[in-house]
Amino acid sequence: MIRFENILEKVRAYQPDGDIDLLRRAYVFSAREHRGQLRKSGEPYLIHPLEVANILAEMQLDVVCVICGLLHDVVEDTLTTSETVEEFFGTEVAHIIDGLTKISKMNFSSVEERQAENFRKMLMAMVDDIRIILIKLADRLHNMRTLQHLSEERRIRIANETLEIYAPLAGRLGIGKIKTELEELCLKNLEPKAYGILLARVDAKRKWSQDFITEIKGKLEKTLNDNGIAAEIHGRTKNIYSIHQKMKRQRIELDQVYDFIALRIVTDSVQDCYGTLGIIHNTWRPVPGRIKDFIAMPRPNGYRSLHTSVITDSGAPFEVQIRTSEMHKVAEQGIAAHWKYKEGRPLQEDDVKNFAWLRQILDWQLEVEDPNEFLNELKVDLYPEDVFCFTPKGEVKSFPRGATPVDFAYSIHTDVGHQCVGSRVNGLMVPLRYKLRNGDIVEVLTARGHKPSRDWLSFVATSRARNKIRTYLNATEKIRSIEIGRKLLEKEAGRSSVNLKQTTASEPFAEALKDYGFSKTDDLYAAVGYGKLSPRNVLARLIPASKLEEKPGPGASLARAVRRVFRGSDDKIKVNGMDDLMVYRANCCNPVPGESITGYITRGKGVSVHSVICSNLLNLMVDPERRIDVSWDGEKGTKYDITLSVNVEDRKGILADITSIIADSNTDIRTVEAKTFEDQKGSIDVTVSISNVKELERITKSIREVDGVLGVARPSSNKDPDRSTMV
Ligand code: MN
Repeated sequence: MIRFENILEKVRAYQPDGDIDLLRRAYVFSAREHRGQLRKSGEPYLIHPLEVANILAEMQLDVVCVICGLLHDVVEDTLTTSETVEEFFGTEVAHIIDGLTKISKMNFSSVEERQAENFRKMLMAMVDDIRIILIKLADRLHNMRTLQHLSEERRIRIANETLEIYAPLAGRLGIGKIKTELEELCLKNLEPKAYGILLARVDAKRKWSQDFITEIKGKLEKTLNDNGIAAEIHGRTKNIYSIHQKMKRQRIELDQVYDFIALRIVTDSVQDCYGTLGIIHNTWRPVPGRIKDFIAMPRPNGYRSLHTSVITDSGAPFEVQIRTSEMHKVAEQGIAAHWKYKEGRPLQEDDVKNFAWLRQILDWQLEVEDPNEFLNELKVDLYPEDVFCFTPKGEVKSFPRGATPVDFAYSIHTDVGHQCVGSRVNGLMVPLRYKLRNGDIVEVLTARGHKPSRDWLSFVATSRARNKIRTYLNATEKIRSIEIGRKLLEKEAGRSSVNLKQTTASEPFAEALKDYGFSKTDDLYAAVGYGKLSPRNVLARLIPASKLEEKPGPGASLARAVRRVFRGSDDKIKVNGMDDLMVYRANCCNPVPGESITGYITRGKGVSVHSVICSNLLNLMVDPERRIDVSWDGEKGTKYDITLSVNVEDRKGILADITSIIADSNTDIRTVEAKTFEDQKGSIDVTVSISNVKELERITKSIREVDGVLGVARPSSNKDPDRSTMV
């Protein structure tokens, strides 16, 4: 157990002129007030304020901080009043204790709105005197260290709150040491199993890690010494929480975490930092793209260092961080470093300047009336890895970087995702693959009956969207394949005058099913429908060869079988896209009513309808059996999306000219994507919603007439036509 005398010694060592007498009185006061109280662990309560004070003394914070650490719970948990604290310890201490008492009454896991208000209060208290938050962090750290004594429910609640609010806050204030420990304790409590496994695996590598560190450290020490650079080298393994996050985020194994081992080199001067970097790159092979100069470009929280990753001759990678001792102090303690050795006083102008982020909070505090808005803005800042966007109603949603409007749509509701056809961001149309940015206001446009596209899988960033799209595609493809497969088998059976129904009920069929490895008849149908099994081979296993004699007449045309699945013997396939599951317009050419079209039976995905001039068609028709006649029979007023590729001169305002021409002709624009090239040329892909080929021709003509337009084309893409979009 920590003793008060230990704390006293520490403070005396770094602040000999501090008010030691007041510190001693604070200890006696706290001990008396908390007398008889016990912690959940059964230990005397006093241990907690002592440990908190000790954490603050280890951070070498001023004596006022340490005094407040000892007293931080007296107003909250004993009969002591704020007035008594002020009377005994002065206004400064009383003010800090008041701030801490306020924060402790906040419950961050309550409803969003209260949380926002609480968070704002805490930050306001914090900018009022930054020491309040430093003491709060020390308090939370000790509570997290002793969390095992609480019930599971409270453990989870406190750990979640810590992970969401206090750890990022410590990070944003640059207090890396506390942030790391908090995160690690959160992982341990929130995912004990994963934590245990990872810890054991890291432990198993301990001997290897230590040998490796000794080897590279020794080599570097000698080289730096030869070059006259004085440096302190410290080797360590990456902390468990960071390893866990990295493995999860990048879906990699422990062995692939290339900064598992890190060397930290502390030098005397900035010049030596860069000198050391040069020597390291001379000694080991640097990993391209991993060199980061946070000395020239400090992080917003004030962190400065040079980072690089190198690989030894034997192929083992490790990370190196190089910094001066001053930078090291800031890296470990962040804003707390500014409170060392100083007499208690409100936040100094200098310190605020060092933390531009804090400056911003001070400004917001004055500007922002709505606590929710405040929290939203703050979240943007606390989690730099994430992107925060808003619904048109102002609700905030967070996504991993790289998320798109499709991810956004699926985060609202599965059906919104499935039916998403476009998106407006900050009032402007964007492509579905647009990457969301912080603060974007995202509006999702949906069309009833619209279906997810396989292409979406190539750009969505959330696992939720990915899973929903996959599930949908797999389910619908399977249903179609089953029907096609059954029809094909029926047809083939019919040629031999065999009744399929009777056959599938027979004993040999059950055996054949088992041999193929299927548990259900539908699985066999699906395999035929997907084209994995030929119907003739399947029947050959079931029917004696003598009975398999072919009757004269038309063969089991695939086209006819497919047609029957949905259309009976009708020779024409209606192309209205929306309610006919089987038929879809191919994404490569997107044919429009009035155009000459032809159909192609895909493997398991129905009939894709291509324009007869589609460049993909030639390749597809290598398999003439899969060709099918289709014609337009859609209801009047059905709209079709079509993408036009406009080549333009890179002239200001041309995008506006083109979009207004289209809008003027009463045609809806779905998406617009503009690109510029180096040769002063650009291209604008615009997707419009039109009803027939005449309208398309009219629009194409008016776009051609816009000044600066070099040409308009229907993009003949290289897309695999079998992967095209369902519409
Ligand atoms: Mn406490």
